[in-house]
Amino acid sequence: ESKSVVAQKKVRTVCTYCGVGCNLEVAVKNGKIKSIQAPYDAEVNQGHTCLKGRFAFSFYNHPDRIRTPLIRKNGNLEPASWEEAYDYIAQKLTAIKQHYGPDAIAGISSARCSNEENYLMQKFIRAVIGTNNIDCCARVCHSPTALGMQNAFGTGAATNSIDDIKYTDCILVIGANPTDAHPVTGAKMKQFAMKGKTTIVVDPRRTELARYATYHLQLKPGTNVALLNMMLYYIIQENVMDKDFIAGRTEGFEEFKNQILGLDIDQLESVTGVDKDLVRQAALAYAKAPNAMSFHGLGVTEHTQGTFTVMQIADLALITGNIGRKGVGVNPLRGQNNVQGAADMGCQPHQGAGYLNAYDPEINKQYEEFYKTKIPFSKGLKIPEMFDASIEGNLKALWLMGEDVVQTDPNTNKVIAAMESLDLLVVQELFLTETAKYAHVVLPGASFLEKSGTFTNGERRIQRVKKVVEPLEGTKSDGQIIVDIMNRMGYAQPDYDAETLLEEISQIVPFFRGVKWQELGDNGKQWPVAADGSDTKILHAEAFNRGKGKFHYFDFQESQELVKHGKEYPYIITTNRELEHYNAGTMTRRTKNVELLTEDALMIHPADAERHFIQDGDMVCVESPRGKVDLKAKITDEIKPGILSSTFHFPEVMLNQITSDEHDSEAMCPEYKVVAVNIRKSKGK
Ligand code: SF4
Repeated sequence: ESKSVVAQKKVRTVCTYCGVGCNLEVAVKNGKIKSIQAPYDAEVNQGHTCLKGRFAFSFYNHPDRIRTPLIRKNGNLEPASWEEAYDYIAQKLTAIKQHYGPDAIAGISSARCSNEENYLMQKFIRAVIGTNNIDCCARVCHSPTALGMQNAFGTGAATNSIDDIKYTDCILVIGANPTDAHPVTGAKMKQFAMKGKTTIVVDPRRTELARYATYHLQLKPGTNVALLNMMLYYIIQENVMDKDFIAGRTEGFEEFKNQILGLDIDQLESVTGVDKDLVRQAALAYAKAPNAMSFHGLGVTEHTQGTFTVMQIADLALITGNIGRKGVGVNPLRGQNNVQGAADMGCQPHQGAGYLNAYDPEINKQYEEFYKTKIPFSKGLKIPEMFDASIEGNLKALWLMGEDVVQTDPNTNKVIAAMESLDLLVVQELFLTETAKYAHVVLPGASFLEKSGTFTNGERRIQRVKKVVEPLEGTKSDGQIIVDIMNRMGYAQPDYDAETLLEEISQIVPFFRGVKWQELGDNGKQWPVAADGSDTKILHAEAFNRGKGKFHYFDFQESQELVKHGKEYPYIITTNRELEHYNAGTMTRRTKNVELLTEDALMIHPADAERHFIQDGDMVCVESPRGKVDLKAKITDEIKPGILSSTFHFPEVMLNQITSDEHDSEAMCPEYKVVAVNIRKSKGK
């Protein structure tokens, strides 16, 4: 009796799935996880979780977990010891570096991993390999947000907290379906809308939130820039701007105003497919609300004009003075648990830890002094450029820490060609993912339940992730794996320890200056954290990081995918997510959630289904210029005729075989949301 009491414990940690960053209380008995509850005193989730966070933890000890390093021999991945794997990698990397130079090697980091692990990953690539070829999955999700908000405000992160929904009078949700993708935040928005408060949803799909919204602007995919220009037009034309804010805190307004007033609204109405009077009403509701918040998701960023759209959302906040106080602001809904942190820690080519310019020789000197070694300041590759460089023969080695690029990046066949062209592909993973199957070496990492560190959620909140159980036998924390290889390649790096690494990070990342493991408490701190430990709930209260907020005007441009292929492939498919699964489904498909949702489906409008003699449940062949997939039809009027939608949770379909690698003109985020396709009824596979 007393023995079993001693063996029980509860550990407070943070969910590994989405960027809401819910706190979880994990009950453990005799080394086994029994249940997950949500603490009521958690500022982020106040006793709530979704069915991913509460139930989807059993993946951590699933029989599919990789339990030993694997090395490819005679075409097959065969078990090896850690020593053998490290020797093999170190020899190969050293030879490639000597023969082709450090820029023939690249790394992609993971939003699943802790800040400390991401920090180590970029340190390994920059200080040990000697290249800026480091990137992370922010490239394929919110890189346009970071760039766009940096251009407008000087800081590329959410301006406010989710809790501010309590204090706002209007929410504008653009290109996001928080009910499924950020469920705890989505529930707060739904409650807000159900109280009859002004809710504006801009989305090609009639999502659940859109059904409760005051205004649903159901635009054609890829026309955000046109629609936001219409909103800006009505705000200026009806003179409902915040003139004091514009005069005191912004720059570039006069020119911006003239450009907006020169727009042809009827033409934009036809481009977007949204009634102009509805847009006018929504724009005035946003502008006249005493406090209005905007939220945006991947329906904004994953477009060729993604960065421009983010800057237009900033324009809306600036023109109406909705910035710098409670209940307002521009709030990207970050997809992955620690994608904010991966970018904060420097896992992108152009900015090192703390967003310092990696190409600036002066800053380079600071990094060199700090890391006590030569640090490169030559231009590094972004993820799509890495794939191109591999296919062209210029990139020889790629290190992937927990990123399944084959299933999640667009144009699967091209990604596979890139993987197959490498001399060395190292993959750190929990499971043998679609990407790991192409690796030369697979290293078994550990899940969030088996290690400590910090995650930074979508509202800049740095929270402690605490080890709940020991790593499964044969596996190691991803941070320790990086440390081991750094040492093996001659750089003395102490063993992975979150507290010590946080101390190091606080010395190089300006907005982590006062972050200390022991002082983060149960609810974490929102960066910037000053040296005295005080944190920041609201950004830009007195001034912007760049001085004044800057207006930017953009003309709508048709998606290149439609310009090139729209005639031959007349349907548009856009991607979405379902509540039960997380992204590639690598974790949630290995839990009971797979019984709730067993496959990807194709949303198709009844009129389109009828035209092609498709019944609900029939298999449909969806073909794009890049490939074809078979999906089960789900007939619904949630989408308009001519528009289709599907998830990409299951490798059996591999939806990204058809998606396009056209990308955002500024940040190179792929345009997953506009894919030109044709459809026909098929017999299926
Ligand atoms: Fe919270 Fe997101 Fe985890 Fe669900 S998936 S419990 S909303 S952090």
